[in-house]
Order: sequence, then C-alpha cells, then structure tokens
Amino acid sequence: MTKTAVVAGGGIAGTVAALALHRAGYAPRIYEAHERGADERGAFLTVAVNGLNALRDLGLDPAAILAEGYPTPLMRLLGASGQLLADLPLGGPEPDGTVTTTIRRADLYVALRACAEAAGIPIEYGKRLLTATPDGSGVSVGFADGSGAGGDLLVGADGLHSRTRQVLDPGAPGPRYLGLLNAGGFSAGPVPDAPEPGVMRMAFGRRAFLGWSAAPDGSVWWFANPARRTPVAAGEFTAASWRAHLLELVADDPPPARRLIEASDEVLGPWNTWDVPRLPVWHDDRIVLVGDAAHAVSPSSGQGASMAIEDAVTLGRCLERCSDVPAALTAYQRLRRPRVEKVVAYGKRSGSTKTAGPVGARIRDAMTPMIMRMLYRKGNPQAWILDHRVM
Ligand SMILES: Cc1cc2nc3c(=O)[nH]c(=O)nc-3n(C[C@H](O)[C@H](O)[C@H](O)COP(=O)(O)OP(=O)(O)OC[C@H]3O[C@@H](n4cnc5c(N)ncnc54)[C@H](O)[C@@H]3O)c2cc1C
Repeated sequence: MTKTAVVAGGGIAGTVAALALHRAGYAPRIYEAHERGADERGAFLTVAVNGLNALRDLGLDPAAILAEGYPTPLMRLLGASGQLLADLPLGGPEPDGTVTTTIRRADLYVALRACAEAAGIPIEYGKRLLTATPDGSGVSVGFADGSGAGGDLLVGADGLHSRTRQVLDPGAPGPRYLGLLNAGGFSAGPVPDAPEPGVMRMAFGRRAFLGWSAAPDGSVWWFANPARRTPVAAGEFTAASWRAHLLELVADDPPPARRLIEASDEVLGPWNTWDVPRLPVWHDDRIVLVGDAAHAVSPSSGQGASMAIEDAVTLGRCLERCSDVPAALTAYQRLRRPRVEKVVAYGKRSGSTKTAGPVGARIRDAMTPMIMRMLYRKGNPQAWILDHRVM
C-alpha cells in the first residue's frame, strides 16, 4: 500500500520534500499555515549551484524553476572606502549553463509549488500545524483551525520558528540571534553606477554591510545588514523611521548605499538574523525536520535555500532506498547533520566580519586581499559547499 506523508510547511524545504517523497513512491500532502498568495512578496535570496544541482538530481529543471531570477555567479567584495578587496566566484557554470541565481523568495515558492501541483501533490492553505501524536504505525496531526490529518510520516518543514521542532523535542534550543539586522529593497529604476550583470557587489560599510546587483529590468536589488546587539522588537520602527534610520547608518559610506535606499519605493525589514546551530533531535520514528526547522543558517552564508533543497532531496533518497521509515530517517540525519552544521558555522563566521569596529575594519580591509589570494591559490575554498552532490 502507498505510504502517506503529512508535510507541514509549503516553503522551499516542504515543497521540495513533497516532490522528493512523491518520487520515492509516497503520497505526500502539503499543509501550509498561510493563505495562498500570502507569501512575503518582498525579500529575495540566492540559490547557489549546489541547490540547483539538488533540484536537478530530483529530475527538475533548475533553469525553469529560477526563470524569474537572474544569474549572479560572482561576488565582488569592497572595503569601507569602496576599494576592491576580492572577486569571489560562487560556483558553476554547470554543464547546462546554470549558475548561482538571485530570485525573489515568492517567485521561487510559486515555481516550486507549480511543480508540486503538476505532480498531483495536494497543497492545503490556512493549515497551521499545532499538534502531532503517534498513531499506530503513523502520526496524527492537528491544525489551528481544529481540523486534523494523518500519515505514515510527518515532515516538519515549518521554518525557523518550527512548531514541529517543539513537538518533537519540547526542550529543543530555539533560534540564536546573530547581532545583525536585515533590510532590503528594489530601486524603482536604474541607478548610476549599477553593478555589471552577473556581479553581486558587497561592501563593508561603516555601520552596515551592503549587497547589491542589477536585475535585467534595470532595477537594482539590494540588502543591508546593520549591526545591532539586540533583536529588533515588532513595531519598533515604522516604515518611515526605518528608512530614516538606515539612511543615517550609511550616511558616511561611499555611494551607492544612500542612493539605493532613496531610489526604492519601499524599504523592506527590519528582520532579525538568526541561526539554529545544533538540535539534539532531528527525528523520531515518524517525525522528521527539514530546512530551517532543523538547522537555520545565517543569511550571510547565502545557503539557507540550498541547504533546504539538499535536505529535502536527501530525505527522499533515504526513503526510496529504505522501506523501514525509522531507519531511513536515521540515515537522513547521518548524511545531513555534519554538512549543515559546518555550513551554519561558516555562515556565523561570515556574518561576524560584517560587525567589525573601526580598528577591526581597517585590519580586515588591509588583510582581506592577501588572505583571499592565498585562500584561492589552490582553487575555490567554498568548493566543499558549492560542489556538493546529494548521494
Ligand atoms: C532576509 C533573509 C535573507 C536570506 N537570504 C538568503 C540567500 O541569499 N540565500 C539563501 O539560500 N537563503 C537565504 N535566506 C534563508 C532562506 O530564506 C531560508 O533558509 C529558506 O527559506 C528555508 O526554507 P524553509 O522551507 O526551511 O523555510 P521557509 O521558507 O521559511 O518556509 C517555511 C514555511 O512553513 C510555513 N509554516 C510555518 N509554521 C507553520 C506551521 N505551524 N504549520 C504549517 N506551516 C507552517 C511558513 O508559512 C512557510 O511557508 C535568507 C533569509 C532571510 C530572512
């Protein structure tokens, strides 16, 4: 008889996990807390080549899924005075020409959900998982609207503040604040000195780190990471006060920080930056976590989406190879945990360079070109992240 799976969360990890389980012979059903179309329209992210390859390993076409995005295969790192520190390749091109790609989060959600729907995987919206209880050889779940569902397996793909994580292990550590805020936006049109196509420029400002790249329509997509000791509280800023605060933080930085903020109709954020470094428990016999629910990585790694995709594809492979669900979940955790914990640590290190004080910043800007030349002499030091293939 076909095994069934409840997938809690219709984001990146949940949708790809459902596709991977479907391929493994399961009948998955996705339950997403938000109503259809309520995705965070604003934010964008980068899917790196390792994430693209994991999609390809699942039989999907990454070029089609990322069609609304644009290639960003190179990171150009600039110092506090705008000087070039290093050019850092972000992997690829792959044999079919695909490279690390920048895309709005909502466009990625829509493309992945279209793949799930094309595969006949049902998606129910407005279903926020609250409870999960063992039920014979399966699991029963309850949603906030009072309804329920059940299956042989529950995949918790419910993101950073995962409810499934709490149900699985009420003592599980929560997300760790990383001392950075996130802002972002899209310039309403072209701006002077926009980066060359394919280049994601990143600059260490005096009080905020800035990243920006040019989209094919001429607009510039940007993000900023101001350092801040404590997380921002909900309602602490209005749209106007957040914009004004950011403008003040970048006032002494070289262009284009100020120009980009002024050229954007809306300044997104603030979001706090979190990770989840190590969970003691990723699964029991019938419940398993994937993506941010299992191990959020700092956005500074540029790997959150790609790790979520790799998890999902690996989980599918394990369930395909092993008909015993508990054994398959154990194999999944064994394959994924060492890699993601290394990426979490890498993301935290990358983020910590953004918060250097004035003296640290001078040392960083002086040393980075030499360190990068040394590191890259024998190839891309990020190859262990970017060249990974799901086994
Ligand atoms: C500002 C910012 C910038 C980032 N930049 C990058 C980047 O450049 N590159 C990159 O790879 N990653 C980036 N990330 C990280 C990336 O967005 C996440 O790692 C990725 O989205 C994780 O996917 P996920 O499916 O695990 O979680 P999510 O995408 O958060 O999806 C979780 C889903 O579960 C749903 N949900 C939540 N609770 C419940 C519940 N109880 N029941 C049912 N459904 C529920 C949510 O509504 C959501 O749809 C960034 C993150 C942030 C915040």
